Amino acid sequence: MEETDRVTVEESAPDERLFEVGLRPESLNEFIGQPQIKNNLAVFIAAAKSRGESLEHTLLYGNPGLGKTTLAHIIAKEMGGSLILTSGPSLERVGDLAAILSNLQNGDVLFIDEIHRLNRTIEEALYPAMEDYALDIILGKGPAARTLRMPLARFTLIGATTKYSLLSSPLRDRFGHIFHLQFYDEPDMHEILKRSARILQVPVQDGALEIIARRARRTPRVANRLLRRIRDFAQVEGDGTVSATQAETALARLQVDGLGLEDTDRLILLTIIEKFSGGPVGLVTLAAATAEDVNTIEDVYEPFLMQMGFLERTPKGRSATRRAYEHLGFPAPAKPATLV
Ligand code: ADP
Repeated sequence: MEETDRVTVEESAPDERLFEVGLRPESLNEFIGQPQIKNNLAVFIAAAKSRGESLEHTLLYGNPGLGKTTLAHIIAKEMGGSLILTSGPSLERVGDLAAILSNLQNGDVLFIDEIHRLNRTIEEALYPAMEDYALDIILGKGPAARTLRMPLARFTLIGATTKYSLLSSPLRDRFGHIFHLQFYDEPDMHEILKRSARILQVPVQDGALEIIARRARRTPRVANRLLRRIRDFAQVEGDGTVSATQAETALARLQVDGLGLEDTDRLILLTIIEKFSGGPVGLVTLAAATAEDVNTIEDVYEPFLMQMGFLERTPKGRSATRRAYEHLGFPAPAKPATLV
């Protein structure tokens, strides 16, 4: 399958991003699911506002497409500040960070996506910025060097990551709030799709959204993408209305199976089963055998396959579970040590 046909890809193409912006919930009330995060955030935001302070620095972690950027937008809006978006890999020099930080106003929110990919120097420059709202600038070199402390506005840093374990503990410790975004359950996925269909003005018949909700990898971004593609099929091959049968046919054409697995998921499981006798197989070997990127497997495919109970991660590598054998129509081999 072509890269552009995938529904799971981590990065959004520019037109996808525009599409996502139109569907982004603008307030905590509109944000569906994740009740614990929502309730706690509402309290912390109200408390900070009543004290006239900025919200404490907040770390959001979870799979791509679960709503980290959306929450950052919502927080900035509720706190009445501007949102400035950047990412770990794009901050190369301390000067890049200083330029951003020195422009922030009280109450602004700085969102750093993929914060686990910050380089060491930038990370260390962030510590005083987070703790004391100050930036230490070193002037000169050698024995004559001196440090100039530049005061900063009282901003909120929101860090987003898919890999919590890759964050150093000094960085983790500097966040006042840490929230783990979970995969969404089916009723929440249904609500998200209902809201998106309403905004996009897609006419849907009974049962159609339930089918999409079940197959959207429990991820809002995937649900919205599937709805968009299915709408295309309905417009070109039908009268524009999405019916249950039409949703089924379109999903089959998109090669999304009954449980939401797509081509690459099946390729990963098939490779483990057929080429590595069910595993365990190391991640790098698996990536080479499937011609996929190590990070994409680890960040996008694997968490969903594990969540579905198809893949097991052990210190020796990845193994296919009995459920994976059954789903793909293989007889489960008598290898109890690796099967769960
Ligand atoms: P992340 O930053 O975690 O990759 P985003 O915040 O960009 O994910 O969310 C991807 C898309 O999914 C957005 O367009 C947003 O509209 C939608 N979305 C995410 N979470 C929710 C939610 N809880 N309710 C409704 N829509 C959501």
